[in-house]
Amino acid sequence: VSAHRGLALLAAGVLAAGLVACHGGAEVAPAALPVLTSLEATPTTTAPTHVEPTPARASPTAPAPSPTPEPSLAPGPKQLTVVLDPGHGGPTAVGAAAHGVVEKDSNLEMALRLEKLLVEQGIRVVMTRRSDSAPVGYEGPTAEGGFSAQRLDLQARIDFANAEGGDIFLSIHSNGSTSPTTRGLETWYDPNRPFGDRNLLLARLLQTHVLRELRAYGYNALDRGLQDDTCFRVFNGVCRPLFVLGPPRETTVEEVLRRGGDPLALGFAPGQSAITSRATNMPGALIELLFVSNEQDAAVLRSETGRQAMARGLAAAIVEYFEQTGQR
Ligand SMILES: [Zn+2]
Repeated sequence: VSAHRGLALLAAGVLAAGLVACHGGAEVAPAALPVLTSLEATPTTTAPTHVEPTPARASPTAPAPSPTPEPSLAPGPKQLTVVLDPGHGGPTAVGAAAHGVVEKDSNLEMALRLEKLLVEQGIRVVMTRRSDSAPVGYEGPTAEGGFSAQRLDLQARIDFANAEGGDIFLSIHSNGSTSPTTRGLETWYDPNRPFGDRNLLLARLLQTHVLRELRAYGYNALDRGLQDDTCFRVFNGVCRPLFVLGPPRETTVEEVLRRGGDPLALGFAPGQSAITSRATNMPGALIELLFVSNEQDAAVLRSETGRQAMARGLAAAIVEYFEQTGQR
């Protein structure tokens, strides 16, 4: 087991930070300390050739930084693009950590594992990060950035997904809890987007296939079910979905200041009272692969074959999603 490079990385992870609950990539973790990094663009196979518009692709309500794909001259199915988003990353954005599993490292290793399986299926894969760092395109505070850094980090993941013309967006996390008996698998989705039905379909397939593969591996993971992110958290009596899955979000300067953020770093012009975030323009889901804080779950996360089982489940779900939506 320890021969595997990724697992060795996990084992080497120092748990000095102790247990930090994963909050699904929401901006509730302690201040992040992203490193300004310029990762090379993914040496991907081919350029995306979007032959025809996907029926599910809703018109984005936010200005999309991505250029409109040129239709290919050759007819045929377009190559599908999956955006994988390993949660957290960087010196302080650790995520959950316990029992020898450091979430940011585990998330990245799982995404790379899944990438191999998807590429074998002829699917183009891009990743919001390929190292222990902030996501591609992150330009923000390099010191303790708190709310500002966390928000910019998550926005960079969204912008990257849109620029790459993703057909789906999958954020990969594992959970953490202060209760050692809390365990299991759950998948978050947003039902309120224009493609909310596809979000639900994707989430259901991910949950089902990963549970199935874990059972085949020999672990009866607790099914925590599908999680509607509509009221993921409540701020000032208003429901807020997960930032990376939800619609464009308006944030006032008052909120930024109250949460210790820097309006200038977040792009507020002088005198501007609110900004609106850009949302993903593709279906997506966020999966929490077991609880690092539960001994039995963590043992699976440390296991080569357990991890490969989960990767197989994720890949099978994605392939079936594309089949069921007629994209493949
Ligand atoms: Zn997380």
